[in-house]
Amino acid sequence: MAKRDFYEILGVAKNASDDEIKKAYRKLAMKYHPDRNPDSKTAEDKFKEAKEAYEMLSDPQKREAYDRYGHAGVDPNMGGGGGGHGAGFADAFGDIFGDIFGGGRGRSSGPQVYRGADLRYNLEITLEQAANGFDTTIRVPSYDECETCHGSGAKPGTSPVTCTTCAGHGQVRMQQGLFSIQQTCPKCHGTGKMITDPCHPCNGTGRIKRNKTLEVKIPAGIDNGMRIRSSGNGEPGINGGPPGDLYVEIHIKPHQVFQREGDDLHCEIPISFVKAALGGDIEVPTLSGKATFTIPEGTQSGKTFRLRSKGVKGVRSGYAGDLFCHVVIETPVKLTEKQKELLRNFEQLTTEGGSKHSPQSKSWMDKVKKFFE
Ligand SMILES: [Zn+2]
Ligand SMILES: [Zn+2]
Repeated sequence: MAKRDFYEILGVAKNASDDEIKKAYRKLAMKYHPDRNPDSKTAEDKFKEAKEAYEMLSDPQKREAYDRYGHAGVDPNMGGGGGGHGAGFADAFGDIFGDIFGGGRGRSSGPQVYRGADLRYNLEITLEQAANGFDTTIRVPSYDECETCHGSGAKPGTSPVTCTTCAGHGQVRMQQGLFSIQQTCPKCHGTGKMITDPCHPCNGTGRIKRNKTLEVKIPAGIDNGMRIRSSGNGEPGINGGPPGDLYVEIHIKPHQVFQREGDDLHCEIPISFVKAALGGDIEVPTLSGKATFTIPEGTQSGKTFRLRSKGVKGVRSGYAGDLFCHVVIETPVKLTEKQKELLRNFEQLTTEGGSKHSPQSKSWMDKVKKFFE
């Protein structure tokens, strides 16, 4: 495909001045800039075309070569003179776009409006409170308009001045090669204004920090780390922006008896070796009072009993988890002489009875024997 004439692309005469060329390019660049025409291939091509034409015609040496030899004079692929890309273009580009998009001149949008930051409040509750749900009140920071300066932040009798860094836009553009990144103005933090004489009571912020009381409803079954959102109770917005939200994060204190795993509860139940040997009813605590269940004869240490639906009713599922009771057999301590005597007799009878009373010990002894052989 034949290349279009550079003058034609920019829509200027062959004898156009540098200024006319710059103006024509600036107009096209604004019209076809990719920032303004996202997803348009035609605009992108036109932008590139104009860019190339400007690059050539804004450089006196290249323009002369082009005038003499046409495209062959400046296109490195066509073997002519002219050379590659000069630094002139980048300079001109930066210069032009500094004007168009730098926020200095041209546009006069007001300061940016920002949503306030979200706040997090850590609320420590007990397992019982988490399981049953409850209503509580919390004290959170809130901000009122300063009465002395009526929110301006400037000392009475003075007024804020337009920020010199961002010219009141609240945002600055940082040029990085061909890309520019918009950032909140570091000087005025996006307000677009600077306070030369700050109001004393509010330190120039225009706001006075107070505390407010919020009512929070903790739903039954809530778990550690879950968050409850309190809409609009975060930090206030900037330049009239909406406030952020407050998140109440739940921290459940360790419980003396239960460990929670999801909606299940686990607990250890110490029982005497006599009870373990003979079996019988044992009483266990649950979140809704005591429960009784029967352990069979010959219950071993570590055995787990599952009490269905005695866990926590899940906040999302609505179903109750289970309670797992882990049996721990306690060796009796501080025995009297009489008790010891009885146990010695017991031991003797047990040994006479052979391995049938202690199958685990027998099996273990057999393994050890094999190991030494
Ligand atoms: Zn004030
Ligand atoms: Zn600023």
